[in-house]
Order: sequence, then structure tokens, then C-alpha cells
Amino acid sequence: MTRPVALVTGAAGQDGSYLTERLVADGYAVHAVVRSPVVATDGVSIHEVDLTDHDGLRRLVLGTAPDEVYNLGGISSVAQSWSEPVRTAEVSGVAVLAILQACLELQQSLGRPVRLLQASSAEIFGEPTDSPQTEATPIRPVSPYGAAKALAHHAVHVYRAHGLHASTAILYNHESPRRPTTFVTRKITRTVASIAAGSSDSLRLGNLDARRDWGWAPDYVDAMVRAIRHDRSDDYIVATGHAHSVRDFVAIAFAHVGIDDWERHVVVDPGLFRPGDPTLLVGDPGHARRTLGWTTSHDFQALVQAMVDHDVALLADA
Ligand code: GDP
Repeated sequence: MTRPVALVTGAAGQDGSYLTERLVADGYAVHAVVRSPVVATDGVSIHEVDLTDHDGLRRLVLGTAPDEVYNLGGISSVAQSWSEPVRTAEVSGVAVLAILQACLELQQSLGRPVRLLQASSAEIFGEPTDSPQTEATPIRPVSPYGAAKALAHHAVHVYRAHGLHASTAILYNHESPRRPTTFVTRKITRTVASIAAGSSDSLRLGNLDARRDWGWAPDYVDAMVRAIRHDRSDDYIVATGHAHSVRDFVAIAFAHVGIDDWERHVVVDPGLFRPGDPTLLVGDPGHARRTLGWTTSHDFQALVQAMVDHDVALLADA
């Protein structure tokens, strides 16, 4: 029997790396689309294609003939989208149309299904009035990032109506040891590990009252795989349904290394506050739970502790 084939954009990122490992473990031949060179691993072919190269994307889809296409690539932060709005629209919006069109073309020429999973985002909801959000919450983005993701989201619906098994996972914040330290979670766990080791003594943060619906990234990757392999294509909110503050995260992280009086290590820097932090986004994962049998492996405390453990081990090995 021939191995199933998967194509993954954004394969070098947090989610892409977990997904690639998962697909290899599932016995897939994986084609990983990356922007800059990475070291190849067993079962993975690397393709350096920029998401603005729409012809290149089309050729890649047609040439690799995947059974499953996971579109995870693109700009990964709202802040970055404000400094590069046009590029954001191209890589997180227009590229998705190129990929969808190529999938439909491939499906028609091979006469067998080509499935697609779009990594959508809670940012498509902008400043919703309903909380928690569901798959029925109106799409009203308020940033270039949200607008690009909304275009992609609508495009998936268009191609679904044209016979493509195309699904979206509407992802809320999801964290792991593979998060870069530009995100507050990893910044906290890395600094806490370093404070515990005696190599630094303070953690400089912005708004401790900011809240997010934070989940465990490998669980979110599992939801994407379940969605693409489900009989019917659909949209799924992938979230925990619970919000926690930066302060909660900090307290659990310090407690895990045996520091209870964490306040003396934290410096609140007004320069790190964001002007107008956005409306709190909390997702209702009920549809994914009921339809896909999706469950989470790490609650909030376990998530924080796993990230701290990783950073403590990294420092010990250094
Ligand atoms: P995102 O804004 O949801 O993409 O994720 P971040 O991890 O960058 O930020 C989450 C929240 O933490 C935001 O509301 C920030 O205002 C807040 N925050 C507080 N201190 C910091 C900090 O030092 N760095 C970052 N990145 N965020 C911080």
C-alpha cells in the first residue's frame, strides 16, 4: 500500500513542527513548505517556497499530489500585521486562494479527494459581543491580520461549496516550549527558569491583568488532524473555553520552581503595555468535542508547568 501524502505550510513553526512529527508517526510522507532552509528529518521532504509565490504553491500542490493539505503558514502576530499589512494579506489571505484552487484542480485531475485544513484564528471575530464565541459568531476582524485570516476563512467556504473537503480550525492562543520568547508565556517560563537557576533576578512584564484563552499547542494540532480526517468538512473552534491572566501564569510558573513570593522578582514596565489591549477572546470548543471527540491533555496548570520544566531542563543542559 502506498503511504498517504501530506503537504504542510508553515512547517517550521510551532504548530507545523508538532504536526509534521505527528504525520510522520501516522505513516505519512510529509512535504514541508518552509520559507528558509531547515534540516530535513526522516519521512519529510523540504520545499523552500514563499507564500507570496502563488505559482510556486500551485506547482507544489500539483507536483506532490497530497491527500491532506494543512495550511499553517503566514504571519503569526497581529502586531506584525500592522507593520506589514500588504504582505500579511498576501501570505495569510491570497495564498490560501492559490492553494485551494490548486487542491480543486488536483482533485479534479486525479478523480480522488484532496482535503484541506486551514489554520484559522480567533482574530477573525475582532471585538465580538458574544462570549464565548462559537462557529456562528459573526466575522468582523479589526486588524490586517484578522482581515487576511477572514479572507482565507471565507475562501475555504467558497471551495467547500465547490466540492472540496476544506475545513477550518479557528485557533485561540496555544502555547508550548516551542513558542518564541516574543510571546508572554515563553518569556515568563524562560525567565522563571533562569531566576530559579540564580542567573537572573527579575522578570520584566507589561499588563499582568491581560487575559487569554491559552491552550496546549500539540492538542490544537490534534484537533486539526481530527478535523481534516472527519467525514464532513466543517469549521471548529479550538479553544479551552477558559481565560487566565498573565498574573495567574506568572504565579503558577514561580510556584513550580518553589518561589512563592514571586512579586519581588516581577517588574511591571509601562513601556510593555499595549495601547488598547483587545477584547478578551474566549472560544467554546463544544462542537470540536462533540463532533471530533477532541479532548485536551493539559489544563492550564499542566501547560505552565510543562513549559517551565522544559526551560529548566534547557538551562541545566546548557
Ligand atoms: P497575543 O497578543 O495574544 O498574540 O500573545 P502575547 O503572548 O504576545 O500577549 C498576551 C498578553 O500578554 C497581551 O495582552 C500582552 O499585553 C500581555 N503581556 C504582558 N506583558 C507582556 C510581555 O512582556 N510580552 C508580551 N508579548 N506580552 C505581554
